[in-house]
Amino acid sequence: MVTPKRIAEILEGYEDPAIATVCSHSSLQIFHGARQEGFKTIGIAIGEKPRFYDAFPNARPDTFLSVDSYKELSRHASELVEMEAIAVPHGSFVEYMGAQAFFDFEVPTFGNRRVIEWEADREKQRVWLAAAGVDMPAKIERPDAIDRPVFVKYHGAKGGRGSFIAKNYEEFLQSVDKSQPYTIQEYVIGTRYYIHFFYSPIGNEGYKLSKGTLELLGIDRRDESNIDEMYKLGAQESLKKLGIYPTFIVTGNIPTVLRESLLPKVLEMGEHVVEKSLDLFGGMIGPFCLETIVTDQLHFKVFEVSSRIVAGTNLYISGSPYSDLLEPGMSTGRRIAREIRLAEKQGRLFEVLT
Ligand code: AMP
Repeated sequence: MVTPKRIAEILEGYEDPAIATVCSHSSLQIFHGARQEGFKTIGIAIGEKPRFYDAFPNARPDTFLSVDSYKELSRHASELVEMEAIAVPHGSFVEYMGAQAFFDFEVPTFGNRRVIEWEADREKQRVWLAAAGVDMPAKIERPDAIDRPVFVKYHGAKGGRGSFIAKNYEEFLQSVDKSQPYTIQEYVIGTRYYIHFFYSPIGNEGYKLSKGTLELLGIDRRDESNIDEMYKLGAQESLKKLGIYPTFIVTGNIPTVLRESLLPKVLEMGEHVVEKSLDLFGGMIGPFCLETIVTDQLHFKVFEVSSRIVAGTNLYISGSPYSDLLEPGMSTGRRIAREIRLAEKQGRLFEVLT
C-alpha cells in the first residue's frame, strides 16, 4: 500500500490541486461539486473523450486523461501527479481498477484506502458491522442448513449481479455458481432504504462523534431489474417454470425520505459504524452508505455498507430534504470537494487523503 510519507511528499509539490475521477458512476456530481468549490477537474476515460459530458456543461471535466484500460491506471500515476490530481474514488473506480492496484496507486486519494479490505470481503464486513452493534440479516452457514427464504450473494460490489433468492436447498443448487465465494443470508422482508452519510474527521460542529462529525445527506431506493417489475408477468413461482428467474441489477434510483421517528436510530447506526471503523482501521473518511431493510416492527437490518460515494446520491445534485437542512444545494460530490478545501485551508489534508 502506498505510504502516508509518499503521499505527503507528493502533496508538498501541489499548489493548485485538481479533482480527478473515472468518467462513470457519480462523476457528473463529483465534477460539478468540485467546480462549485473552485477546483479544476480531470476526467479519466478509456480512449476518446466521452461525448455525453457535452450534454451537461456544468459537470464537464476541464481536462481528460485518456487511458487504454482502467486496470492500467497505475501506470498513469505520474501524469496525474503532474496535473496535481486528487483522486476521488467511487464504486466503479475501485471495481474497474482492482483493489490491489488501488492500494498501490501513487496519487493522493480522498478517503482511507484501508476500508476496502473491510468492505470487499463480506465476512470482514460482518465482523465490522456486528462489532458496531448493527443488526444484520442472519447468516446461514451451510447451504444444506437453509431453513427459510434466503438471499445468496457473491463477494465484491457487483450492483446486485448474480445475487439470487432461494427458499430451500434445491433452489439454491439450481442457481448457485460455486466457483465464486458466496454468502447466504436470511431474506429480510421489509422496505429498503439506502442511507447516504458523510463522516468528516475534521468537522467540529453538528452531530459530533468521538472525533469529527457525521452528516446525513440523503436517502434513496434502487430500481432493480427485473425483480421490480416482473410481477406484471405473474408470480415468481409460475415464471420459474418458464425459465424466467428474478435478477437484481441496479438500473436507477428513486428519492425517498424516512419516517421521521426513525432518524435518531439512523444517526446512531451511522455513528456506531464510524466509531468502530476508527478502532479497526483508522476510520472511514467521507461518504458512505448503509443499505438497510426496515421490517414491519420498525427494526433496521443492514445488509451492506458501501464506504464511498454511492450512485444513489446522483439524485441530489441540487440538495436533498436532509442536506438542505445542513446547507442548501449541498450534494455529496460538493461535500467531498468542500472537505478537501477545508482540510487544505487548515493544513490537514493528510487527515482526509491517503
Ligand atoms: P447486494 O448484492 O447486497 O447489493 O443486494 C442486491 C439487492 O438484493 C438489494 O438492493 C436488495 O434489494 C436485495 N437484498 C440484499 N440482501 C437482502 C436480504 N438479506 N434480504 C432481502 N433482500 C436483500
